[in-house]
Amino acid sequence: MLTDVSDNGRNEEIDAAVRDGRPTFLPNLRLSTTTDVLPTLAVRRNDLDAAADRLAGWAPALAILFPELESSAGVIESPLVPLPSASSFFEADLPGNAFIKADHALPIAGSIKARGGIYEVLAYAEKVGLAGGLIRPGDDLRALTTRKARAHFANFHVGVGSTGNLGLSIGVMASALGFKTTVHMSNDAKEWKKTRLRNRGVEVVEHLGDYAKAVAAGRDQMSGDPRAHFVDDENSLDLFLGYAVAALRLKNQFDDLEIAIDVQRPLFVYLPCGVGGAPGGITWGLKQVYGDAVHCFFAEPAASPAFMVRMLSSEPRSVYDYGLDNRTEADGLAVAQASELVFGLVERLISGVFTVADDELFRMLVRLERATGLRIEPSAAAGLLGPARILGGIKYYGEHEISPASATHLFWTTGGSFVPEEEYIRFHERGAALLP
Ligand SMILES: *Cc1c(COP(=O)(O)O)cnc(C)c1O
Repeated sequence: MLTDVSDNGRNEEIDAAVRDGRPTFLPNLRLSTTTDVLPTLAVRRNDLDAAADRLAGWAPALAILFPELESSAGVIESPLVPLPSASSFFEADLPGNAFIKADHALPIAGSIKARGGIYEVLAYAEKVGLAGGLIRPGDDLRALTTRKARAHFANFHVGVGSTGNLGLSIGVMASALGFKTTVHMSNDAKEWKKTRLRNRGVEVVEHLGDYAKAVAAGRDQMSGDPRAHFVDDENSLDLFLGYAVAALRLKNQFDDLEIAIDVQRPLFVYLPCGVGGAPGGITWGLKQVYGDAVHCFFAEPAASPAFMVRMLSSEPRSVYDYGLDNRTEADGLAVAQASELVFGLVERLISGVFTVADDELFRMLVRLERATGLRIEPSAAAGLLGPARILGGIKYYGEHEISPASATHLFWTTGGSFVPEEEYIRFHERGAALLP
């Protein structure tokens, strides 16, 4: 048995399910109050506000670089979509409100990576621009979109290792600013994502190994070069903060809809998880904004439960240690080992982690399309399995003294709008064949 954080045998059951690749739910027994946890962390509320300010400062420049951002004045944000028929949709009683946070439709990258990935590239561009005398603190950042700035950035190299979506977001933003850009893709990265990048002049290096190997290759290639910046998905605070800004934006969206969220009317959030950066940053941001009124759950493929195996142990663990193969159609989540940085930041903030089978993802993808017309990729469907997995017997509600009808449920759909038609049809066919 690999598990060492014991709970009177409960974790042994979960441990067995993990090893067998069976979907399961791990409630987080170390969940603590935000007042206990947040002050102990190395990131603070002012870091969140500073990240939001940075993105606001970039908005006019982004509107120049990307015509599709004109209508939002350079703000990269996704809609909050009501899911009125929640109960029939989930084939389970789900009282309360339900919404989709539609990051599958985020502009520029078509996935949640448009938050963290783009933020980190912008932070680096600002640093290079300041050091190179292109701007001074407080200047209008449109100065970093000029021909002169592009020529300067061409002397600098941005790299990343990715299963696909992070590479897309970093590659598109870094190349748009004029950086020399290299994306190291793991074996599970989809062909269309590589093509899209190559069409923008990004160098794509294909690796035979998994995500961690692609990251390691990129890190090695770029370390020691003062004119290179490697976006380290396993260990980046900038990525984390970029994701976290979503919490402030989401609060504005709920406020506009006059949806109240407090301890009596809690928010449940279901977040697909790979290495943990995106769901972790968003969880931390939401705890800053809503405190104990928000309950965050991570969703992972049963073949790649990186965060779950980390939660089950007192030290780093890989899904390979459990005899799993890390092979899943949810390519955005095909990660064997969680980010230690993110784990340390959120281990007492998340309410639990659940796993899903690939077949469930395909079924859910089709159900969502039938109910709403939204088209997502398999990874992005993971959160939608949350109610079925967690709320069975409403034990979680009981333990937290929550009345089910007072809750708001939020499903984060994390990618999909850039999936080519023929690829989407294949997803759809597989899911439809599994449905009545
Ligand atoms: C990357 C990704 C996630 C998860 O983000 P991590 O930071 O790796 O945990 C979820 N969904 C999709 C579609 C992604 O591309």
